[in-house]
Amino acid sequence: MAVIGGGVVGLATALSIRRAGFDVMLIDPGSPDERASTATAGIVGCSAVIPWVDDGLWASLPGMLLDRNSPLQLSWRLADGLWPFYRHSRRAGREPDYSNSAAGLASLGLNGYRHWMALLDECEPARSLFSRNGCSFLYTTAAARLADQPNNLVRKQRGMALEQLDAVQTLEKIPQLAKAPCGSVNVVQAGHVADPLLLQQHLLSAFSASGGEVVQASVTDFITERNRIVGLETTAGRQAAGQYVVAAGVASAALARRLGCRVPLLAGYGSGLVLSQCNVKIDAPFLVLDQGFAVVPNRHGLRVAGLVSLGGARRKRQQAMLLRRVGQLFENLQYQSITATTGARALTPDSLPLISRAPGFSNAFFNFGHGHWGLTQAASSAALVVQLLSNDQLDQNIGRYCATRFH
Ligand SMILES: Cc1cc2nc3c(=O)[nH]c(=O)nc-3n(C[C@H](O)[C@H](O)[C@H](O)COP(=O)(O)OP(=O)(O)OC[C@H]3O[C@@H](n4cnc5c(N)ncnc54)[C@H](O)[C@@H]3O)c2cc1C
Repeated sequence: MAVIGGGVVGLATALSIRRAGFDVMLIDPGSPDERASTATAGIVGCSAVIPWVDDGLWASLPGMLLDRNSPLQLSWRLADGLWPFYRHSRRAGREPDYSNSAAGLASLGLNGYRHWMALLDECEPARSLFSRNGCSFLYTTAAARLADQPNNLVRKQRGMALEQLDAVQTLEKIPQLAKAPCGSVNVVQAGHVADPLLLQQHLLSAFSASGGEVVQASVTDFITERNRIVGLETTAGRQAAGQYVVAAGVASAALARRLGCRVPLLAGYGSGLVLSQCNVKIDAPFLVLDQGFAVVPNRHGLRVAGLVSLGGARRKRQQAMLLRRVGQLFENLQYQSITATTGARALTPDSLPLISRAPGFSNAFFNFGHGHWGLTQAASSAALVVQLLSNDQLDQNIGRYCATRFH
């Protein structure tokens, strides 16, 4: 088996397949800095059932283009690839497709924590980075609380246990807030990872220790014969395996295209900061949804991550915006140093990843397009890939994630 891509999705996939008894080669150029998996907030499961495109999104875009403080920024360069994405997302944002996406997200997301624990059963250092003590939506305005009500209804319908907290209860939970909030909603079964970069390092070590092979290279092309891939062109020469999984995050669309499969994928750049030795202490993460960022307890201090930029990375601007926002949120915020990372989420029009056979090929599979919730979904997706490879009885809902849905 060859797994292409060593972000959190590729790593979880490679380790799961190896655990299922296959010989596995993981191919990745090796730098974790530009990965979505390193910029990630590290939350497992919170809000993970709400599709990111709804019927109102496109109508609000002109306003966002003009608002420098919007959590979603667009650049004119986006024009490339926007039309097919727009076309599919118009449909995905409406019923019944919207509910189908929510169901597909729930199936991966609400089982995410359980699948992670199963995958890391024999990897205590990685397992110990996970906590499950909830994650809240913090409403800084009454309008934000009101706007999230329909989403909370969807969350409840999909089986999430929610706990409503008023302003006083929220302040008891997060006492260092500078201003009294307008309440919060806690997703009781959500969790988080205390250090997403260390998680990737532990996954890689566990994979190597289990006999997996790591090839430090970029895949540049596929060598095919009829309906089979027979080898890979990489920056470190040719590689060959019996079966292939494309799990290269946002770069997967270009690889899929070389296999004749067009996937309308957009790169949604986001940033993460770690404020080391920070004076603000929180027990559990929270999201400020209307401002598009999350605050998460981290092994080194406080992690602040989020925002979306389409059409280009805008690293400095995003990182400055996150720092400004977290500074406004807490009284007298202090820290010793900042580590900043930016990575691209692979956004599909219907918010669901592609977990399926590659159309037209008998020995190629896709596992990419996890968008906003790839850390949550990585172990669940990996388990589905193992089912596909092993020809086990398939999860009956896997058709939702099929690559041909965009054809
Ligand atoms: C700011 C931010 C906050 C987020 N917060 C959360 C959160 O709280 N919870 C959550 O669940 N998700 C979150 N996400 C989403 C999550 O981080 C991503 O969905 C997930 O990390 C995607 O993982 P990946 O492995 O698919 O992609 P990536 O992490 O981008 O990894 C892709 C890998 O493929 C490799 N690659 C690319 N091209 C090739 C090639 N040609 N050959 C070989 N290798 C290649 C790259 O080197 C890279 O290592 C967040 C994302 C961002 C950006």
